[in-house]
Amino acid sequence: MGNFTIAICGGGIGGLSLAVILKKYLTSDWLNIDLYEAGPKFTEIGAGITAWERTRSIFRTLGMWERLDTHVVNPSVRFRKSDTKPQCTFHDLRVPHGQTGLTRLSLLNLLLECLAPDSTSFLTTHFSKKLVSYEQDADGVTLSFADGTTARADLLVGAEGLASPTRKKMYADMASKVQESDPQEAERLLKVAQISWTGTYAYRTMLDRGKLRARAPNSLMLDTTFIWCGEDKHVVSYPISPTLINVLYFDTVPAGLGKILTGPSVAPASKDEILALYKDWEEDISVSAEIIEDMTKWAISQIRGLPHYVDGRVALLGDSAHAMTTHFGAGAGQAVEDAYILGRLLAHPRVHDASTARAALGVYDAVRQPIGSDAVERSLRLGFLYEFQAAYLPADVDRARACASDVAELARLGAAISEVYEFHWAAMPEQDWERAQGLLEAGLARERV
Ligand SMILES: Cc1cc2nc3c(=O)[nH]c(=O)nc-3n(C[C@H](O)[C@H](O)[C@H](O)COP(=O)(O)OP(=O)(O)OC[C@H]3O[C@@H](n4cnc5c(N)ncnc54)[C@H](O)[C@@H]3O)c2cc1C
Repeated sequence: MGNFTIAICGGGIGGLSLAVILKKYLTSDWLNIDLYEAGPKFTEIGAGITAWERTRSIFRTLGMWERLDTHVVNPSVRFRKSDTKPQCTFHDLRVPHGQTGLTRLSLLNLLLECLAPDSTSFLTTHFSKKLVSYEQDADGVTLSFADGTTARADLLVGAEGLASPTRKKMYADMASKVQESDPQEAERLLKVAQISWTGTYAYRTMLDRGKLRARAPNSLMLDTTFIWCGEDKHVVSYPISPTLINVLYFDTVPAGLGKILTGPSVAPASKDEILALYKDWEEDISVSAEIIEDMTKWAISQIRGLPHYVDGRVALLGDSAHAMTTHFGAGAGQAVEDAYILGRLLAHPRVHDASTARAALGVYDAVRQPIGSDAVERSLRLGFLYEFQAAYLPADVDRARACASDVAELARLGAAISEVYEFHWAAMPEQDWERAQGLLEAGLARERV
């Protein structure tokens, strides 16, 4: 076991993936990991996540893909204009290799299996350790926890999700450094690090497939992934097992983007809200609402446009850096990509001490920040394209005609939607890694001269 310590705060998909990737790629034992998790054990919320080709390629490289419990490969996503008449299916997004659903629990269990203690164990897990803040000095980082204790580390990776205390402290530090010389920039840095509401609520539920079939044997929700589009609202539905269909009903408050959220971020909701919100929509939507049993209402928030994921010895990873809306199905995949690039950089044979590790963090920031921020923007844009939001429609789409179901306008909207999605298969994270490796090696070579 080495004497250089990396503290990972947060044992979610991102934090655990980083530990797995370090374990796989480290070729010497110069470092060890302290993993601090706020909860009393590792847990996952929600039923499933979507894996696109970028994410699958990482799991294949790690030799994990075949061991994951994947379900339902959807080769396409179909789009309907569903609010006003005439309603129609206007676009079919063809997904090369399909998109795969996986159960969160299966992913969590496999990550834990990969980390199971062995004779060369370099990982110590600390449960019920909720990070509150940290202080950096010339020799390392002091972590402070909610239970009043502290711990030291050489590097800190904040992977605590949307409400990350690491992000809050990092941006408070960055702002205070420029407060005197550039107060406006200080204010911008503090603002950009805050959780920001998108103006959209998501009502999430699981429908009983048998019940829906009995009520509406021809419902399009039964067998295919559909995105049902309309002004200021949309619905996403996809079968996740032989017995269940995952459905999200979205409702956007006009001009709500960036507003302060008033009210809880998650609350129980009733089917009457959906019946009222979607009363003029096509029948498949109202019939689906009638059989809702349990439902929760989520305010969809994001972390938008962080200019840096690294400050000195501290890095952000996953949702703490780029929590995004659900529309792009990329939050978990982006956390895994962060972990892949950061893990491989820190495991590089020429990274072996504080100075080289800091160089690795700098490269991680340079490579991952543009991609993570781009994914946040794509995700936001997609949701607003589904809802015909004027500011997000491409210049060649006439909004009034698209809202009136003009076939040519909807075809152009469909093309714009496909273009946003292409990120998921146009290039692979391996290319990002090759770039990161080149930057690291060039940087370290320059330092030696
Ligand atoms: C209901 C739901 C459905 C989703 N569906 C999809 C999907 O289909 N596809 C997709 O790609 N993404 C999806 N996402 C997003 C995806 O889950 C996240 O992007 C992903 O989990 C981010 O991983 P993470 O490790 O950064 O954060 P998280 O998974 O949030 O993990 C953070 C971890 O840190 C711990 N923690 C929190 N605070 C502290 C603290 N102060 N100190 C120490 N530990 C702390 C938490 O207990 C948790 O274990 C969904 C999210 C939700 C909520």
